[in-house]
Amino acid sequence: MKYISTRGGSPKLSFSDVLLTGLAPDGGLYLPETYPKFSNSSLEQLRAKSYQELALIIFQTFIDDIPVNDLKEIVYKTYTKEVYGYARSNQDAEQITPTLELDENLYLLSLSNGPTLAFKDIAMQFLGHMFEYVLGRKNQTLNILGATSGDTGSAAEYAMRGKEGVKVFMLSPHKKMSTFQTAQMFSLQDENIFNIAIEGVFDDCQDIVKAVSNDLAFKNKNKIGAVNSINWGRILAQIVYYFKGYLDITSSSKEVIDVTVPTGNFGNICAGHIARMMGLPIRKLVVATNENDVLDEFFKTGNYAPRGSSRTFQTSSPSMDISKASNFERFIFDLLDRDSEALKKLWLEIDKGRSFQLNAKSFKRIQDFGFVSSSSKHENRIQLIANFYKKYNVIMDTHTADGIKAALDHFDSRVPMMVLETALPIKFEESIEEAIGKKPERPEQLKNIEALTQRYEVFGNDVDQIKSFIEANN
Ligand SMILES: *Cc1c(COP(=O)(O)O)cnc(C)c1O
Repeated sequence: MKYISTRGGSPKLSFSDVLLTGLAPDGGLYLPETYPKFSNSSLEQLRAKSYQELALIIFQTFIDDIPVNDLKEIVYKTYTKEVYGYARSNQDAEQITPTLELDENLYLLSLSNGPTLAFKDIAMQFLGHMFEYVLGRKNQTLNILGATSGDTGSAAEYAMRGKEGVKVFMLSPHKKMSTFQTAQMFSLQDENIFNIAIEGVFDDCQDIVKAVSNDLAFKNKNKIGAVNSINWGRILAQIVYYFKGYLDITSSSKEVIDVTVPTGNFGNICAGHIARMMGLPIRKLVVATNENDVLDEFFKTGNYAPRGSSRTFQTSSPSMDISKASNFERFIFDLLDRDSEALKKLWLEIDKGRSFQLNAKSFKRIQDFGFVSSSSKHENRIQLIANFYKKYNVIMDTHTADGIKAALDHFDSRVPMMVLETALPIKFEESIEEAIGKKPERPEQLKNIEALTQRYEVFGNDVDQIKSFIEANN
């Protein structure tokens, strides 16, 4: 299996090389040349598999340059009940991504039981072990440069802390993450972890990362890599839980399900799109946004108009406060039948800070890919958190609430709806308190996290300063 760039101007790479590369040299994103396909009967054979077995089977269809026994060892090291120990029960922890039936045909897929309490751990923990393995084999080191609005950064840091050959330089918008998220990241004292607070919003951080990565001389000299959701390894790891969730809530591969995904950079739902392309019987893929509804607008009108930071709102589901979705290019590539020339024309506009409008034919094709969308507002989230607590005795976080809002907008009582739970409520306890009048109970080991000493640097929105800092510290 080789990987190609969406922009068609980069050499094909094997999995291990894509893993360490991030953006392709032509500015595009890597995707496998073709998607492996699972027939209905091969899906049936997956039904009795554990999460680890399922992960290994799926990874093997995408990775052909790592010996199976090594891959197996990595998978079994990554997905343990200890690492996913914030689950409701020991049994749930063994499932890694357990499903919870809320009501007839309404399910939550729990993805947030890892060390940073958000779904990003599932991919990032895998990446941490993969990086250490691949770098060790190549006798190389890597400096990971990333941007985060909260969850990516902590997931990356917890996955990479103490790993051989890896340093992390993580940019975050200064004073715009929740106190809990900030404490989670900034309290890490590991020497290979650098927290960099930027005076700006998340999109500014992301633009700095892009600018540094596009400086190929700097990138090569300083061995810069990425763990942002553009990293193919993350998308790959996320495909697994769509299969796991589907197999858990159906009893035959003749059944279809709908899936709702709280969306920011389009990474999570991109994995859902690929799972569907691989033959997983997903009927609808519901894109859920908050007030930052660029993607909702796109799926309703075919007009993709990313917004600048001044028009990106700070909301109570901050990990979705994104107005330019870094993975979106992957989906559009498939939507355009993988026509790199057509894709480049559209992204020429986007890269100049403008928008594009799909032609009628491409817009109509969105239906073939199952995509629909919805957005929610703060009041919707608060009301749904309160209602679901009363009705089902389940406290959900604000991002999952965005998902529930969209899921209910598109709910069809005849078809199971699986909503992806992307964070645990204790990460956003101010909003939970607003909704239900009390804070969710914290696990013992997180009770005093805000009081720990914090380690971070503050910088203005300036690419050159960040470059100097990296050069001085790598
Ligand atoms: C990152 C994140 C999202 C958005 O996921 P994308 O892959 O960027 O679309 C949603 N909810 C939570 C809690 C997150 O951390």
